[in-house]
Amino acid sequence: MSGDELNVASGAPVGRFAPSPTGPLHFGSIVAAVGSYLAARSSGGRWLLRIEDVDTPRSVPGAADGILRTLTRFGFEWDGPVVWQSARTAAYQAAFERLRAAGEVFGCACTRKEMADSALARDGTRRYPGTCRDGLPPGREARAWRLRVGPGVVGFDDGVQGRIDEDVAADVGDFVLLRADGLFAYQLAVVVDDADAGVTEVVRGADLLDSTPRQILIQRLLGYPTPRYAHLPVAGNAAGEKLSKQTLARAVEDARPQQVLADALDFLGQAPPAGLADADLDALWRWALANWSLARVPHQRLVPAPRYG
Ligand code: GLU
Repeated sequence: MSGDELNVASGAPVGRFAPSPTGPLHFGSIVAAVGSYLAARSSGGRWLLRIEDVDTPRSVPGAADGILRTLTRFGFEWDGPVVWQSARTAAYQAAFERLRAAGEVFGCACTRKEMADSALARDGTRRYPGTCRDGLPPGREARAWRLRVGPGVVGFDDGVQGRIDEDVAADVGDFVLLRADGLFAYQLAVVVDDADAGVTEVVRGADLLDSTPRQILIQRLLGYPTPRYAHLPVAGNAAGEKLSKQTLARAVEDARPQQVLADALDFLGQAPPAGLADADLDALWRWALANWSLARVPHQRLVPAPRYG
């Protein structure tokens, strides 16, 4: 029996961590890595690593290597080879062609400038006003390809944030699957990757909560199962902004792994004992695995992490 059959048979969870190589890991990324790792491993599951470099123009040379180095130094152990989105275009293309053959996508000629007046969706992108939905205006060519989003609420029960319902058609509208620059959109790539890898638990930052209903829509159209979701609070700075490269969050690379991991466990509500930051790495992971509880994670979208802001 192969490992995969064994996991299906035993129902062991499959989790994953999927960083984008846009810079070094900061505290918020380590929180997502720790949460996804413990959720999978504490119940005997597998934990996969995927480098989300589908958006090649945003990838920073050397960042992926730095991420792998940091994860190794922090004692994370992943199953199987690292998956690189940049090597998976054929899989995205095949999924896209299935949706196109089913009449679920349409070509769109609208430029960003032409859409500048439409309302903002929750994630800050423009809500699509439906201009090309019933055919391209005369003399115009398709730049991007969008999913035709039907009416109705898409909902799911998040393991941390509770019930989430979104009317995707009203809030976002028909969204892009194949971009004007020829690259597949993150929303499609993540769905195809998680399904192909048999991921059953998606544990990630709450900044992706608003993307989840879109991803569930794509799963349904492609006939994929919907994994369980748990969206962890993202780490914020003193100004209440999400830590990111834009807010100049510090890289964790040079800090002591034990200190950062103990802080991540504390951030996730796991109440690590005093002194865990001084334990050796193996002892720290043993404690974390034995004591992990998703129920203790704060039910918030953002929690300040002043030390790392
Ligand atoms: N690549 C995304 C990020 O780094 C995470 C996507 C996901 O976990 O689904 O924010």
